[in-house]
This record gives sequence, C-alpha cells and structure tokens, in this order.
Amino acid sequence: MMDNRVAVVTGASKGIGAAIAEQLSATGMRVASFGRTMGENSQLLNIVCDVTDAAQVHAAFTQVESELGTPTVIIANAGITRDRLLPHMNDADWHQVIDTNLTGAYQVIRRAVRAMLQQRWGRIVSISSVVALSGSAGQANYAASKAGLIGMTRSLAKELAGKGITCNVVTPGFIETAMTAVLDDAMRTKYRKMIPAGRFGTVADVTAAVRFLVSEDASYLTGAVIPVDGGMGMGH
Ligand code: NDP
Repeated sequence: MMDNRVAVVTGASKGIGAAIAEQLSATGMRVASFGRTMGENSQLLNIVCDVTDAAQVHAAFTQVESELGTPTVIIANAGITRDRLLPHMNDADWHQVIDTNLTGAYQVIRRAVRAMLQQRWGRIVSISSVVALSGSAGQANYAASKAGLIGMTRSLAKELAGKGITCNVVTPGFIETAMTAVLDDAMRTKYRKMIPAGRFGTVADVTAAVRFLVSEDASYLTGAVIPVDGGMGMGH
C-alpha cells in the first residue's frame, strides 16, 4: 500500500487516464483527476483543468494541495489527436496537439516538481505512444508531441535521479478506448496484423505498467521507455 502518497492524473475523465486514476486509488493513494470535463469517479478528487492553460493547472494544483496534500506522483496522460496528412494539416491542428500532449505535460510536471524536490521523492510517468518512435503517416503532429515527451523525460531523469525522483515514459500501442473506437473494421484488421500479440491492448494492460513504475519497487528505474504494445514497436 502507498497510502501516504498523493497522485495527479491528467486526462482522467475517461479512457486510460480514468483507469490509471482508479487503480492508483485502489493502491491507497489519494488521487486527483484532471480533465476538461469533470470525471465521474467519486473515489477521486475530480477537477476541471485544461492542461493547456497554465493558470488552470496552477489553480488545480492549489486545490489538490489544500484538499489532499502535496502531489508526488504525476501521470501526464492527457492527449488528443488531430490526424491529417501534412498538406492538409493546418496550424491549429499542429498547435492543439503539441500544446495538449507536450506543453501540457511540461506545465503539470513543472508545477509539481518543486514539492517533490523538497520531499526528495517523486514519480513522474508520461503516457506517450508507440508512434513516437515508429512514426505514423497522418500523425506528424501527434508523433512529434509523443517523441517530445521522451526527450523531456530523459532530460528530467538526468536532472532528478539523484533527488529520489524517477521519470519514465510508457508507449502504448493500440488500446481499446474512445481514441481507437473511431477506427473502422478494415483498419482494425490491418492494425491487428501488425501486432505480434494479435489483439489491441486494454486499459488494464497500461495501468499495470504504470502501477509498477510508481511503486517503491521501481525506485532504480528512470529514463526508461516502457512499451505496452503487444510487441508492435519492437526494434524501435
Ligand atoms: P481518450 O480520448 O479516451 O481520453 C483522453 C483524455 O484526455 C480524456 O480524459 C480527455 O478528457 C483528456 N484531455 C484531452 N485534452 C485535455 C486537456 N487539454 N486538458 C486536460 N485533459 C485533456 O484517450 P485515451 O484514453 O485513449 O488516451 C490517453 C493517453 O494515451 C493519450 O495521451 C493518448 O495519446 C495515449 N495513447 C492512447 C492510445 C490508444 O490506443 N488509445 C495509444 C497510445 C497512446 P476531456 O475530454 O474531459 O478533457
């Protein structure tokens, strides 16, 4: 049990983030859920917080600090896609994805890190994607944002490893959530053939990796990129 820890999970109103928040809460942590819409899990402190807005991030952390205590576990999970081939991509598609997936993670981690340094303990996990390393046609913005999380994480791992704070990245493959529900049957069949495990992942597959990374057992594991992709990204 990790019942003395406070965790913040961004993008926890649904999908992978909601499952991570629920699981961390089940380990005994006090967990805050951030999303542009309000989360519905009554076990969590649900806060409306758009991670692209630094003022909202600051206010949400202040609320967490006063209602739950100081967060020392951060799961930067909020993410969106705006897929288009480059000739059709506009500046808004580019900026919205980078602002949410990369700058949003930076905002949240920066707001949290000072307190972690004071406590000389922390766990930072960013949810990237298999496409950060493999690339993906139509996802230049998304893949750039997700690759950015890896560079940021490895830099922070070097800054923070000596202070008891670990920083890691999880790179899921195709996971059954609203984000992949938009795929039609032909696409699903095509993608399934690219996955050695022969199936899409579940949110439970991702939460299991995150639960380990935030545990005491993972204190010597930092700067790692952990694939949860059924073998899809091997070789990258
Ligand atoms: P969903 O679309 O189901 O959920 C995304 C979550 O992010 C929602 O809770 C959404 O909540 C939140 N969110 C979006 N924008 C913001 C914002 N500006 N501020 C705060 N919260 C925000 O996606 P998944 O659960 O599938 O994805 C979760 C993460 O996993 C993402 O980073 C995604 O890129 C990554 N991932 C997913 C894969 C998959 O196959 N599903 C594969 C690889 C990576 P709200 O709408 O309330 O803001």
